[in-house]
Amino acid sequence: MAAVMDERIETIYRQVTARNPGEDEFHQAVREVLESLGPVLVKHPEFVDQKIIERVCEPERQIIFRVPWQDDRGEVHINRGFRVEFNSAIGVYKGGLRFHPSVYLGIIKFLGFEQVFKNALTGMPIGGAKGGSDFDPKGRSDNEIMRFCQSFMTELYRHLGEYTDVPAGDIGVGGRELGYLFGQYKRITNRYESTVLTGKGIAWGGSLVRTEATGYGAVYFVREMLKVRADSLEGKTCVVSGSGNVAIYTIEKLHQLGARVIACSDSNGVVVHEKGIDLALVKQLKEVERRRIAEYAAHHKDARYIPGGNIWEVPCQVAMPSATQNEINGKDARMLVRNGCIAVGEGANMPTTPDGVKVFLDARIAYGPGKAANAGGVATSALEMQQNASRDSWSFEFTERKLDEIMTNIHASTYETAEEFGAPGNYVVGANIAGFIRVAKAMVALGLV
Ligand code: GLU
Repeated sequence: MAAVMDERIETIYRQVTARNPGEDEFHQAVREVLESLGPVLVKHPEFVDQKIIERVCEPERQIIFRVPWQDDRGEVHINRGFRVEFNSAIGVYKGGLRFHPSVYLGIIKFLGFEQVFKNALTGMPIGGAKGGSDFDPKGRSDNEIMRFCQSFMTELYRHLGEYTDVPAGDIGVGGRELGYLFGQYKRITNRYESTVLTGKGIAWGGSLVRTEATGYGAVYFVREMLKVRADSLEGKTCVVSGSGNVAIYTIEKLHQLGARVIACSDSNGVVVHEKGIDLALVKQLKEVERRRIAEYAAHHKDARYIPGGNIWEVPCQVAMPSATQNEINGKDARMLVRNGCIAVGEGANMPTTPDGVKVFLDARIAYGPGKAANAGGVATSALEMQQNASRDSWSFEFTERKLDEIMTNIHASTYETAEEFGAPGNYVVGANIAGFIRVAKAMVALGLV
């Protein structure tokens, strides 16, 4: 039976790669989920009859559009905008927007696909989507960013709505960009529709803790993984890649829980500061001045900056990849394990390549894959939607407690699901199966749509 199912899944995977040529990251994300699903099909023949896997791999809707804009010198630029509305079986399309030159359809589809299962794991009523553009915000003025966001929303607005599709931020899209996007949405529609975007500023309908949520949530997940092993974050030496929103609040929570973060990075290089990263300085450089992490070393004589360095060479007990996809390969993973790493919590989406994942699983370290470990961001987006719907705003403490509860529940359900399906301690299997089953049951119930 199991062999027949594996054969069936292999056929589906071959169809996905043939139907979506050249979209390597999407193939990678699909493969990882499909590899977990054999035992689910044995238990749920109705998912086979209803072709749920085939359906879940095909986005419900894919929107691609032109985004023309003018820079400060008057030069015209043309970018490409995307929104892939992947699955709405359990709720409105929900997922962030990414502005980065590496964006193409394959990136948005991998992110949208992962989002479907991640959102299901939160236990909240949110479907999966992702969007963005190949626009590069680096070095652009505020005015250029604003004009780009306005042009992007001038097309996107017609596809959005409180009951349809609710974007948020991702790489290159934070509070500033969401402000310009919301302003343009409001202007075009003449509606103050708070629930159409999440990650909003506190002054205009946002939720406390949303900014911190992805990083804080990822640390809570690691805390739970260590708890099962009768261990804790107290006194642990950590390395956090990146220095954007996810990395900053991962470092903050690690420090609050008594760990010491000794390195962070950006796409140019790595900072190592054995005494512990000075987070106030990182926030000032990155959130306020929008500079490169290279400047960190100028402020601390005992810190080292390694241009083009590989952060995974820095020995640590806990590694939290919080930059981007495929930032840890098999070699990096082996090095981490060899240097004594006992836990990995993924703040970024799909930061570890398949051979890297295999190294972590074989070594039986505590490995929390992104779709479980970084679900705190989107979960807090759902909390923001709840507050907007009831025209209420919750305190920081109350909202953070809710986030903690959600992450603790995600840990428990992925852990238990892994046990139930014969893969104890394997959070990849646990997350894929728990997320998939919730979506698949809803799809069966809603009929062939
Ligand atoms: N982009 C974030 C993620 O990967 C947040 C999405 C959201 O809040 O809708 O989950």
